[in-house]
Amino acid sequence: MLLLALESSCDETAAAVVKDGRHVLSNIISSQVDLHAVYGGVVPELASRRHLEVINPLVEDALNKAQIQPQDLQGVVVTRGPGLVGALLVGVSFAKAYAYALNIPVLGVHHIEGHIQAVQLEQKVEYPFLALAVSGGHTHLYRVDGIGRYQLLGRTVDDAAGEAFDKVAKMLGLGYPGGPVIDKLAATDDDGGIVFPRPMLKKDNFNFSFSGMKTAVLNYLHTLEVAPDEVTTRQIACAFQTAVVDVLTQKAMRAAKAENLNRIVVAGGVACNSGLRKKFLTLEKSSDIRVYFPSPIFCADNAAMLAVAGDYYLAHGSFSGLDLNAVSNWPLEQVKSI
Ligand code: ATP
Ligand code: MG
Ligand code: FE
Repeated sequence: MLLLALESSCDETAAAVVKDGRHVLSNIISSQVDLHAVYGGVVPELASRRHLEVINPLVEDALNKAQIQPQDLQGVVVTRGPGLVGALLVGVSFAKAYAYALNIPVLGVHHIEGHIQAVQLEQKVEYPFLALAVSGGHTHLYRVDGIGRYQLLGRTVDDAAGEAFDKVAKMLGLGYPGGPVIDKLAATDDDGGIVFPRPMLKKDNFNFSFSGMKTAVLNYLHTLEVAPDEVTTRQIACAFQTAVVDVLTQKAMRAAKAENLNRIVVAGGVACNSGLRKKFLTLEKSSDIRVYFPSPIFCADNAAMLAVAGDYYLAHGSFSGLDLNAVSNWPLEQVKSI
């Protein structure tokens, strides 16, 4: 099927044209980072307004890049949730109106299902696999038995890993979003001997906690008599990232073994992290587990990722009605398979 996919759950407006849930004909992302950077985080009302401004030209752009006409489309898929409700509503309302005008089906897709299945845009990963969904709002481990078949194994009990990256970057005066800048600083591999705790690593479950790690960084900053210089900032960033990566990789490997799974898919914005990728690739070598990452463009928020599950559902005759509504809170386990 030839689908238009739309994403507007947070601070990226994105539109894509995808054929048969695999072939990405266009994938356009309009980031609002500059708009929110001055506030040090996403301002929901500003996000909604910006989505509204850009969604029309963005869709036009996506169709042009794919060299198709609206009449060629066979369906519209859109992020239904979770996310900021006002932001989601822009995409959902647009998708419904667009599909109605073209007399084609519309389907609301789960944002995290999009992140997890994004890997299938570039390579075929067989089910079942373990998914580590690690992003601005999620740090969750799922057993994935197919599209629409997710079993939650563990999750963060407080902050998400991406959120911790953003908060630590803010403490260090590195701006927003924090992940990419900490990643860059940490690439020097110099932690200056600083060691931050690895919360819940020894616990016999698959949950995570990142709020304590963030406090540990703050406490460390308080022990310094002056504001950290460039070198110290780099070392703190490196020590923090190493601690996060340690916990994420070790818990994911352990969960995969416990579930007898020999494939791990890492998904979401934090899956862009080069330290995380490197560590997983090292661990992979000494085990029979294979680790899969989407390309960075499909890890961060994008619309193409929604078309993998979206195409499957629509091809099986499952679509939403025009009463489709945005849901800000929607656990992935509640997604229904066909
Ligand atoms: P969710 O997907 O849970 O709804 P979200 O959509 O806001 O949340 P994403 O866009 O998937 O989250 O990911 C954004 C997060 O990823 C931010 O917290 C950002 O700091 C983090 N991130 C992006 N690049 C990197 C990187 N290279 N290293 C670490 N974190 C990163
Ligand atoms: Mg974002
Ligand atoms: Fe996301």
